[in-house]
Amino acid sequence: MSNANPNDNDNDNEQPPAAKRLRLSDVASTDESTLNQISTTMDSSKGEVGGSSGGGDSDLRERLHNLLVCVVCREVPQPHDFYQCSNGHIMCDDCKTAILAVAIFNDMGACCPICRSRITNYNQQQNLVVRQILGELPISCPNCNDQFSDRKDLSSHLEFVCEGRVVCCKYHCLGCPWTGPHKDSVAHDSDCGFPQKQGEEILDILLNVEKKELGAQNPVLQLHRVLSASQVEFFTLTMKWIHRSEGLRPRTLESETIRAFEENWVLRLRLKRVGEKITVSSQLLLSSTPRTSLMVDHLIQMPQSVCSAKQLHDIRPRINRHIFKATSKCTNRQKLPLVGRQALYRLYAMTWIQLRLWMFLHF
Ligand SMILES: [Zn+2]
Ligand SMILES: [Zn+2]
Ligand SMILES: [Zn+2]
Ligand SMILES: [Zn+2]
Repeated sequence: MSNANPNDNDNDNEQPPAAKRLRLSDVASTDESTLNQISTTMDSSKGEVGGSSGGGDSDLRERLHNLLVCVVCREVPQPHDFYQCSNGHIMCDDCKTAILAVAIFNDMGACCPICRSRITNYNQQQNLVVRQILGELPISCPNCNDQFSDRKDLSSHLEFVCEGRVVCCKYHCLGCPWTGPHKDSVAHDSDCGFPQKQGEEILDILLNVEKKELGAQNPVLQLHRVLSASQVEFFTLTMKWIHRSEGLRPRTLESETIRAFEENWVLRLRLKRVGEKITVSSQLLLSSTPRTSLMVDHLIQMPQSVCSAKQLHDIRPRINRHIFKATSKCTNRQKLPLVGRQALYRLYAMTWIQLRLWMFLHF
């Protein structure tokens, strides 16, 4: 999988979702000055810690906090969701996944931004003491910095209390698009034009809402259509890179050939990058010559047996229909409906990219 090329200096601007301090380009690059800069950041944070010594519990807590932050995003990781390099540097799981994925995009080996030791999916040891201390540390609300000793208190604070939590306008069911931090909602309430709407306007709005609700039934109809298939097959496919060594873009992953409905099939994924934007498209190909035309729906999902809990819903369910015949043996390339960039990182950081393919044949 890791087709490392340490001489490849392809710079990249991907950022981990929560990344604030370091760019992943810095992390993935082998540039000396960047690493020195990171070390300086680390040293200066140690300096701050030293400077505040001599106080009580809160100082100790702050010093521990500064020592246990993720070296990439400087947030304190969750006790069960962090990674340690072979020299003990700590990264939150999202940042480690992003480093791995970006290294794969760039055909480079992934390494710790501080000591350059190799990062892989194989060395997953966590220091027990570090994990226990992380569990003891108070966590702060990312919106308002209030501190909580219990993670459950933070969840309910974020949901119901925090002034920085994002809320909708109370007229959003009538179509007001405003969303923003709770502390700004009072100001919006006095500006919002929706309370002044006349009966006729409201009627129009309600008719549109009704239309949308009818549209929302489509998934059920779609499911009904798929389940009326005459034959159903599913496969867990291991995707393998092809054409990687030449550095061709877009790059391609392909499954083994599978046998369904008495024909041979291959699933293909293509990774395309335009500037900052990375997309993954999928394509189902019929590799034998069919005797008759075949109307096939297919659906791709993460196989529960191999993916992490976080990954389960990374691919939105989408059904694609195609009529396969001798003159039309592959579907159009469809964008793989991944839920956000972190889902893309998680997919590419997998040791083996595995996908479940459902196929429904209709007569
Ligand atoms: Zn992080
Ligand atoms: Zn390290
Ligand atoms: Zn808060
Ligand atoms: Zn409003």
